[in-house]
Amino acid sequence: SIVVTGATGHLGRHVVEQLLQKVPADQVTAVVRTPEKAADLAERGVNIAVADYNAPETFDTLFAAGDKVLLISGNEFDKGRVAQHKVVIEAAKAADVALLAYTSTPGSLKAALADDHRGTEEALTGSGVPYVLLRNGWYHENYTENLAPVLEHNAVVAAAGEGRVSSASRADYAAAAVAVLTGEGHENKTYELGGDEAWSLAEYAAELSRQTGKEIAYNSVSGEALKGILGGTGMPEHFVDVFVGVDASIAQGELVVSSGDLSRLAGRPTTPFAEAIAAAIKG
Ligand code: NDP
Repeated sequence: SIVVTGATGHLGRHVVEQLLQKVPADQVTAVVRTPEKAADLAERGVNIAVADYNAPETFDTLFAAGDKVLLISGNEFDKGRVAQHKVVIEAAKAADVALLAYTSTPGSLKAALADDHRGTEEALTGSGVPYVLLRNGWYHENYTENLAPVLEHNAVVAAAGEGRVSSASRADYAAAAVAVLTGEGHENKTYELGGDEAWSLAEYAAELSRQTGKEIAYNSVSGEALKGILGGTGMPEHFVDVFVGVDASIAQGELVVSSGDLSRLAGRPTTPFAEAIAAAIKG
């Protein structure tokens, strides 16, 4: 079976959808915490397995020998994600799966956000399980799903200086994961995944101006200033730190990925950022 954790998350949904275009539904298993959220998938014939990274026993008999597994990194930053992911790695090892792919972060990213991913990578590559590191770059959606305040204030506020980002859509990263899960010869490979084109925050503001007909500026601020601005919106401190840390990384060029691995695996160019912006503005 091809087994996908985080299957009811944003990325997981894309992965399952694209898998169903390539393999019969009964060869796909969606690992979910809340089966109600996967009712549509069950209806289409996808196997549903209920498990939680916080409850190791729920993974005890989940995998079978020969399975190809995609471990989608969790989003519970305060619960020890490395330990959570190790639960899946241990269960996969015990079951003798054929492949365990993990959605990580670019090797160039030094922000604190990367620590859990590096810890998980180490556990996985040391486990003896045939692995694939899908080092996903930044999502277009990190911007396109947060357009409201930008359009309200006519300003892109960030602490990323002139740094560039090679973002791609979740659907693009899903296509790479599906290629690895359904293809051959990916054992023990590391892929650095990012969009074909890198853009700066100033270019993002210019593109928004072009598409909306409004004058939208890039308001480049310091990390400290961004901290104050985001803190003032009531965003939890931990998230504020993540955003500020990532902007500092962008300023240093740490989210530029120029390997070409993503479009190569997907077998097509990545989604242009302007296209993703247009779709988001249209709603
Ligand atoms: P989502 O937040 O939409 O999905 C996270 C998934 O992880 C959900 O399906 C969630 O389950 C599952 N999950 C969380 N905790 C547990 C747990 N304890 N046990 C089992 N499953 C769990 O994120 P995306 O799909 O957009 O992205 C996937 C991952 O990529 C994120 O979790 C994060 O690690 C990382 N990420 C990457 C970004 C990038 O730009 N590259 C940006 C943001 C995140 P449920 O559906 O039940 O909630």
